[in-house]
Amino acid sequence: MELDNIIGQSALVSQLKRLILSNKVGHAYAFSGAPGMGKRTIALSFIKDLLCNNPKNDNCTCISCRTFNEGTNPDFYEVVSDKKSIGVDSIRDLQQDVANRPTYCSKKVYLIDDADSMTVQAQNCLLKTLEEPPEYVVIILLSVNIEALLPTVQSRIINLRMNPYTKEEMVQIICTMYSVRNEDLEFIINFSRGIPQDAINLIEEGSVRELRSKIFYLLERPSDFEQFENFRKYALDNKEDVHMIFDILLSFYRDCIMLKHGMENRLINLDKKDIIRDVVSHYSSHKLFAKIDRLEKLRNSFRYNINFQLGIDSLFMEIQEV
Ligand SMILES: [Zn+2]
Repeated sequence: MELDNIIGQSALVSQLKRLILSNKVGHAYAFSGAPGMGKRTIALSFIKDLLCNNPKNDNCTCISCRTFNEGTNPDFYEVVSDKKSIGVDSIRDLQQDVANRPTYCSKKVYLIDDADSMTVQAQNCLLKTLEEPPEYVVIILLSVNIEALLPTVQSRIINLRMNPYTKEEMVQIICTMYSVRNEDLEFIINFSRGIPQDAINLIEEGSVRELRSKIFYLLERPSDFEQFENFRKYALDNKEDVHMIFDILLSFYRDCIMLKHGMENRLINLDKKDIIRDVVSHYSSHKLFAKIDRLEKLRNSFRYNINFQLGIDSLFMEIQEV
């Protein structure tokens, strides 16, 4: 089965395979989880197996699978929207298609990616199909925050939650796609906390490691004013990096707490252990927790249009203050 190629999410994958093989697939599912968890990948494998005429076969070449691979299977319909939200018109188009019976197999599958962006009107419209779907219809939503959907919609959908991947699964996923040096792999896996897309972004934007080196340098030498000033200017000119600067700083202070409590094996920045150990001696646990708290508040204020330069100045005061 196509689902056999999925790395990790083993409980979910077994559940999906059982549904297909016992012919007990319901009418509506949501794959939910953080961005970058691979919701789409697993959903597409599920859909392909669902539409396949011989789902037990590996590398099946039935007409349904062949056309699915080519992107022309008429029994698979994806809602696409050129706007920021999915409006009622897109759902009406879906409903028109629902009226036609499947072509190649016993099911028709409708995929709504980014389902959270459906307008209330669109959701109410979809509700009609969810309430009385023709027997061949399966609707699949991909959602980051399923609680944001109308309760009436939620109640008609089986939510399949994706959990973060284990370290071993992350290594497997990354190593099938990239050749990464061992010392980098450790950092990438720890920093991305079980979210494959985050790891991929880290690999493709090598600049993150450079950014981390700069920040760790400053954390180690808070009195190097010249480097501080250089980095402050850099941050002011590179707005898009601010989020990552916060991620790196927070990972550093969390590591300090871990180290203080003897949990060395749980460090995100394991390869920078020596620097963390140097710095941690200047802090009490209480001070570290307070720092994390302030940094998180400051990060949030960037989301709410804080004056950018003021925000950066506060951030740098926070880095400098031991
Ligand atoms: Zn097939």
